[in-house]
Amino acid sequence: MERRSFFKRGALAALGGLVLPQFDLQAQTLGEAHKNKRAKNIIFMVSDGMSFGTLVMADLYLKRKFGRPSAWMGLYENNLAQRAVMDMASASSVVTDSSAASSSWGGGVRVNNGSLNISPNGKENMPILQKFKKAGKKVGCVTTVMINHATPAGFCTWSKSRNAMDEIALNYTELGFDVMLGGGSKYFDPNHRKDKKDLFETLKKKGYTVARTRAEMEKAPTNKPLYGLFAEEALLYSIDREQSSEDKAKMPTIAEMTAKAIEQVKNHPKGFVIQVEGGKVDWAAHGNDIGALLYDQVAFDEAVKVAIDFAKADGNTLVVITSDHGNANPGLIYGKTCNDNFDRLQNFTHSNDWILQNINPNDSVAKVREHIAQHCGGMNLTEEQAKELLAYYSKAERSEEGLYNYKHLPYRLFAELQKAHTSVGWISMDHSSDYTELAMYGPGSEKLKPFMRNTDIHNFLLSAAEVSI
Ligand SMILES: [Zn+2]
Repeated sequence: MERRSFFKRGALAALGGLVLPQFDLQAQTLGEAHKNKRAKNIIFMVSDGMSFGTLVMADLYLKRKFGRPSAWMGLYENNLAQRAVMDMASASSVVTDSSAASSSWGGGVRVNNGSLNISPNGKENMPILQKFKKAGKKVGCVTTVMINHATPAGFCTWSKSRNAMDEIALNYTELGFDVMLGGGSKYFDPNHRKDKKDLFETLKKKGYTVARTRAEMEKAPTNKPLYGLFAEEALLYSIDREQSSEDKAKMPTIAEMTAKAIEQVKNHPKGFVIQVEGGKVDWAAHGNDIGALLYDQVAFDEAVKVAIDFAKADGNTLVVITSDHGNANPGLIYGKTCNDNFDRLQNFTHSNDWILQNINPNDSVAKVREHIAQHCGGMNLTEEQAKELLAYYSKAERSEEGLYNYKHLPYRLFAELQKAHTSVGWISMDHSSDYTELAMYGPGSEKLKPFMRNTDIHNFLLSAAEVSI
């Protein structure tokens, strides 16, 4: 008997170590580990306006530069995630905006573009973070744009218009959220609010820590609820932030904010639900701004890694990773030199937004050519092309802060010129109807079907957490 059982153990060890393919083992182990378990915690991650080409280019960039896949694609490569496509249409259009998209998940009902959790017939739909809060969970949001912008707001509150930014910020202060990290400080600031209310004071009186810098965020105690607002409007693009030690000290990355948000709520006995938004992926797509887009998607991916690492260690956390709509549908285009052209993005140092804001009407053609070569991986404009760009600046108006009105800047022309340099093209400068990518990891993920309607997500999350409200 003894000899036999010894032999059995030896043979099994040999099989496990040498014969069985690793991915099969992992899939079985993780599938079984998650099955029929309740999702105590949920981390819902949105790369806003991420077309499929954006997801692919971030993965290609990381593979070509560092020899590793993105965290998101790594889940697929290792057979660790369930995957679906999602129909994101709103009540008013097959092409959604961010507020209707987030409301479809947040309130479980399709609303018209532009509104937040108020149906076309006027009915208010209870936002999902309020439901989870009622169920005793800690809740919050992380974003790289304003904390009261469309995507976080769709999980938090109601409004007839996503543009009612003062009103949305005021609503937030009455809703008792546990951790809110991002931009949009001006909507809490008495000097900028129409009603002159000081919402920072309101929050402090309610027991919140209010952090205005990365360091203040890091040292915020975990036994108090936290607001961290690190810019008046949106945070900087990752690629621009990286160039300034001052900005790096002030603004945390989306991965750092995600780690801090988890830290704040992870020990709550009844669990937590947080939304994490890479909001400027969408803004970059609107601007056909490839440097901004690529590096913000990579930054979002670092936040995905933070969430997945936590969920792996925790075992009770469902991570949902998705986008709310396509935008401008960028992609790398076939050609003899497309590999090398794409690799030029590794040497970009700034967003097109920053590059175009830093051209002056009086700059010489030579100066414009040099400026662009320096920040776009050696991009070589002809004199004619530089003149064509410069022509916009004689008419471009500047705001009080000295910034140009972005509507007057040549984003589209510049992206067209960049196409020859990077081999990246775009179909438009606006949202598209593409079904979005939807990935899930953790308990509940095994119930994901390959085709989801956006509104299905609402009950999916509640039932994964076994919350019925
Ligand atoms: Zn969006």
